[in-house]
Amino acid sequence: MVLDISRAADMRGIAATADGLRIGALVTHSELVRSPLVREFAPVLAEAARTIGAVQTRNLGTLGGNLATGVPSMDSGPALLALEARVTVAGPRGTRTLALGDFFVGPRRTALATDELLVDVVVPAASLGKPASFLKFGLRKGQALALVNVAAAVRVDPDRRAFVAPRIALGAVAPTVIRAPQAEAFLEGRPPTSEAMAEAGRIAATEARPISDFRASADYRRELVSVLARRALAAACARAQGAQ
Ligand SMILES: Cc1cc2nc3c(=O)[nH]c(=O)nc-3n(C[C@H](O)[C@H](O)[C@H](O)COP(=O)(O)OP(=O)(O)OC[C@H]3O[C@@H](n4cnc5c(N)ncnc54)[C@H](O)[C@@H]3O)c2cc1C
Repeated sequence: MVLDISRAADMRGIAATADGLRIGALVTHSELVRSPLVREFAPVLAEAARTIGAVQTRNLGTLGGNLATGVPSMDSGPALLALEARVTVAGPRGTRTLALGDFFVGPRRTALATDELLVDVVVPAASLGKPASFLKFGLRKGQALALVNVAAAVRVDPDRRAFVAPRIALGAVAPTVIRAPQAEAFLEGRPPTSEAMAEAGRIAATEARPISDFRASADYRRELVSVLARRALAAACARAQGAQ
């Protein structure tokens, strides 16, 4: 049976709500790139969406479709995980909300039951405007799936000169998109120095569980995690300090 969801009005639209930024599952990657609300409150998601496929892919592909594939190299996953997004799932037994991290359960597997739909994604109010950065490394500059992609979101306390709630999410280096909790814990409360960010990148690399395949070896992917996490942290940190 084929179910056409393309006209489901309650799965469309981007809106600022009391809970946060609500993005319907049918919102396309191009709509994310263009949305003034996304650019203001969660620009890292627009940064990630901009790297997906080509214009044609972005015009047709939806955020919900990207997440529902459960592909570990998806580009929207790390950006949303770094912002601690939640998803709403609906089916005959009702509606449930889960953390995006719990939505991904394995390679190409999600928490969706066969009779459920992903309705929307909510970037929680606490993450809106949180300085963040997304970086992707592929074998070409355009139309490339990520060998590794990384998103980092941080706040910097100007009085203590310390990282607050650093979040690091990694794609294409584990069975699902993952966070790097040990690297995050290392950074929490530390001064935002380049040494600390480099060490966090090294720790994140130890948390990755990449495979070797025809595109890259596991060791190469681990090295990419270390470098990209450091650079994403530095970019997010510069944005945090620029905003103060
Ligand atoms: C040429 C090309 C290049 C690409 N490059 C990239 C890239 O660089 N980065 C990247 O991340 N992705 C890339 N993709 C993947 C693709 O763009 C996304 O996964 C796309 O967003 C899928 O969206 P869709 O709406 O077409 O979903 P579909 O392909 O229609 O659906 C994908 C799966 O999810 C299910 N599904 C869709 N929506 C829902 C929902 N709301 N609830 C429950 N299940 C749902 C479908 O049943 C299907 O199983 C590329 C794809 C192509 C064809």
